[in-house]
Amino acid sequence: MNIHEYQGKEILSKYGVRIQRGIVAETPAQAVEAAQQMMTLTNSKFVVVKSQIHAGGRGKGKIVGSEQRGVQLAKSVEDVEKIATNLLGNVLVTIQTGEEGKRVNKILVAEDVYYPGASEPKEYYVSILLDRAKACNVIMASTEGGMDIEEVAEHTPEKIVKEWIDPAVGLQGFQARKLAFALGLEGEAFKEMVKFLTSLYKAYTDTDSSMFEINPVLKTSDNKIMAVDAKVNIDDNALFRHADIAALRDKAEEDPLEVEASENDLNYVKLDGNVGCMVNGAGLAMGTMDLIKLSGGEPANFLDVGGSANAKTVEAGFRIILKDPNVKAILINIFGGIVRCDRVATGVVEAYKAIGEIPVPIIVRLQGTNAAEGAKIINESGLKVLSAIEFKEAAAKVTQVLQEM
Ligand code: GDP
Ligand code: MN
Repeated sequence: MNIHEYQGKEILSKYGVRIQRGIVAETPAQAVEAAQQMMTLTNSKFVVVKSQIHAGGRGKGKIVGSEQRGVQLAKSVEDVEKIATNLLGNVLVTIQTGEEGKRVNKILVAEDVYYPGASEPKEYYVSILLDRAKACNVIMASTEGGMDIEEVAEHTPEKIVKEWIDPAVGLQGFQARKLAFALGLEGEAFKEMVKFLTSLYKAYTDTDSSMFEINPVLKTSDNKIMAVDAKVNIDDNALFRHADIAALRDKAEEDPLEVEASENDLNYVKLDGNVGCMVNGAGLAMGTMDLIKLSGGEPANFLDVGGSANAKTVEAGFRIILKDPNVKAILINIFGGIVRCDRVATGVVEAYKAIGEIPVPIIVRLQGTNAAEGAKIINESGLKVLSAIEFKEAAAKVTQVLQEM
């Protein structure tokens, strides 16, 4: 699960990670009030107004139909009001949102931390994630902060340093010092970075996160180290033990069909094609998507109904798939391992009847325990459902219905 920058920063702050402070606002009036509070707190007229969407690249991104950037420096309360009005309720397109962009419903009014002082502020990059191949967490750090890290990895990979953490002993002091040293820090800033990394790592493991990306981490002009941005991804499978974090979910940021699917315990990912598919098991779902492509169609979605395909899950699956106007045919591909094919077939027929008329052809392929009985139920149901037992046969039928359209 992804959360917003302001929520990620709140979590980091609880663990003692220094953050760029800010107040979230949903209207220009709230933004003005937030700005006044920040200005009093920092004794400065400068604040940064930051769009809160579940995507990065906001600083360089633009609001549709204007030249307004997603992150802007304001130099007065009047500026804040103008910027807030320009951002709130409008659609922001960044390198990570796709061309349809994301609507800005909230903004963060944050303190300006790039203030002048004894030295120039300097941006770094720090992330923590799971290295599956090595089966342990890795901290990545770079002096090339504020930039697109994929670019750095491609052109100057030597500028990214990595430290793998042994899960049995956790982050060791020498590792944090090694990273701070590799970033070229010294004196107060070195000590600050060691503390920053130590607190950050504790926050990462305690919250069962699967990714933290802090870009930029800033060394301020007075040598403080702080998180200016926070991209936080929590492992969905651990949310049951973090009710406070689960409550941070912002459904407005997610695809409505994907939200409906997760409420029905279905694993659904919307795609751009014309053949809807409903499958039990993620591996079979991927194989089915390949099959659809080979037979000349394009999958409209990935949908794993899980081990127990029954009338209720099949009906929820149908309803979700049918909300996608691009769907021209539906392929149901179920392997009767734990679940019996005749029960699935009965489920399909019941779901079909519950929904009423389904406007697109349906091809059902049931294989495994009681496959023949399953096919019989489908064939005798009197419904407009084509049944197949072999994978190839199902593909031929998909091709056939696509050609007949
Ligand atoms: P992203 O573009 O979505 O990654 O958003 P960030 O939170 O990283 O902010 C984008 C950029 O805004 C940063 O790289 C900074 O250059 C700039 N920025 C953020 N906070 C401040 C600030 O307090 N003062 C100034 N002057 N610039 C800031
Ligand atoms: Mn950033």
